[in-house]
Amino acid sequence: MLAMNYRGPQRVRIDHKPMPEILHPEDAIVRVTRSCICGSDLHLYNGNVPDTRVGETFGHEFIGIVEEVGAGVHALKVGDQVIVPFNIACGKCTFCQQEMYGNCHEANPQATAVGGIFGYSHLAGGYNGGQAEYVRVPYANVGPMVVPKGMHPDDAVLLTDVVPTGYQAAEMGGIQKGDTVAVFGAGPVGIMAARCAWLFGAGRVIVFDQEEYRLDFVRKYAPCEAYNFKSVGDPVVFMKKTTDSLGADVCIDAVGAEAAGSALQTFTGRKTLMQAGSATALQWAINSVKKGGVVSVVGVYGPTTNMVPIGNAINKGVTIRGNQASVKRLLPRLVEHIQNGVLNPKELITHHIPLEDIADAYRIFSDKLDNCIKPVLIP
Ligand code: NAD
Ligand code: ZN
Repeated sequence: MLAMNYRGPQRVRIDHKPMPEILHPEDAIVRVTRSCICGSDLHLYNGNVPDTRVGETFGHEFIGIVEEVGAGVHALKVGDQVIVPFNIACGKCTFCQQEMYGNCHEANPQATAVGGIFGYSHLAGGYNGGQAEYVRVPYANVGPMVVPKGMHPDDAVLLTDVVPTGYQAAEMGGIQKGDTVAVFGAGPVGIMAARCAWLFGAGRVIVFDQEEYRLDFVRKYAPCEAYNFKSVGDPVVFMKKTTDSLGADVCIDAVGAEAAGSALQTFTGRKTLMQAGSATALQWAINSVKKGGVVSVVGVYGPTTNMVPIGNAINKGVTIRGNQASVKRLLPRLVEHIQNGVLNPKELITHHIPLEDIADAYRIFSDKLDNCIKPVLIP
C-alpha cells in the first residue's frame, strides 16, 4: 500500500509499505478515504517531538471504510464508514473509565503523560498513522463511530480531532456568560475554539495570529474580533487596554510549541523550537488573563519546557488546564451540533490533495501558502 514516510525534519514522501494486519482480536483494518494534516503533525514534521523515527507514518485525523475485523470486534462490520478518534483508547482502564480517552493507560503504558495516538511518534505509543491507504485500528469496539447518515465526509473527518479539540479548549476555559475570551492562534484549532466559545456564553471573543488570511477567515467564521499580534504591539498590553485593565476572563493557547519559534528566526535554515526570550502564546495567555482567570491550553508542547511564567501565574491565582481532547466523550454532542447546523466544520477545509502529493501538502500547510487553513489528503 501507499503510505507517508517520514525521512527527517521537513522531509516526507510517499512509499510502498506492507499492508497492516490484524494483530489482536479487537483490531480492525480501515481503508482510509480522507486523512488530514494537523498542526500537531507540524511539530513532528519540524523534528520537535522526541522519539520521532525515520520511517514512521504520521496521520491521526482520518475516516475510512472498515475492510477487515478481528474475531473480537462486535461494534463494527466490514463496509462500515467510520470516524476514528485520534486517541487510541482501551475503554477499560482507570482513565478511560473517567472518559479521559486521551490519557488511556493501556494504549501507551510506557508513557507518563499522553495516551496512544495514531501516527504520533513513539512518545504516543509508536502506532502507525492514517496518512496511508490502510491503517490498523486497535480497540475497534471502543473508538470508531459509524459516520451518521447524510454527514459530509469533510465534516466527519474534522470530528476526529479539530472539532472536539476546539470545543474542549472552550469547555476547559469554564467560560461564564458574558466572559471575554482571548484565543491565541487562528489555525483550525483556534478557529474552532473561537467559534465554540460562543456556545458556552462568551460575551466577547478576541483572536490573535500573524497570518492575515486566517484572521480574515476567523472574523467571519467565529465571528469575532481578530488581530495581528505583529501590529498590535504587545498583545498583553493590548488585552489590558481593551478590558479596562482587568485582562481576559479566559485565555486559550491554540498554538503550542510553534509559538516559541514564531519570531521565525531560523537555524540551519529551518524553524527551531526555542528562541531564548521570544514570547510564547502560553506566556501571553498567562500574562493577559485576569486575576483568578483560566488559561486553557490545547497547544501541544512536545518536550518539557520552562515557558511558563510561573510567578505571574501563581500571584494572579490563575487556573491552568490542558489536555489532549477526549474525542469519544464529545462525539455525540458534536455530531448533533453539526446536524443542527450549529457547527459547520467543513468550511475550514481549503485543500483536497492526493495522498501521492504529500510533500506538497505538508509544505502548503506548514508555510501557510495558498491561504491554506486545513488540507485533507485523499488516498
Ligand atoms: P496551525 O499550525 O495550523 O495553527 C497555529 C497558528 O498559530 C498559526 O496560524 C500561527 O500563525 C499561529 N501562531 C504562531 N505563533 C503564535 C503566537 N505567538 N500567538 C498567536 N498565534 C500564533 O495548527 P492547528 O492545527 O490549529 O493546531 C494548533 C495547536 O493545537 C498545535 O499546537 C497542535 O499541536 C495543537 N493540537 C492539540 C490537540 C489536543 O488534543 N490538545 C489536538 C489538535 C491540535
Ligand atoms: Zn490533529
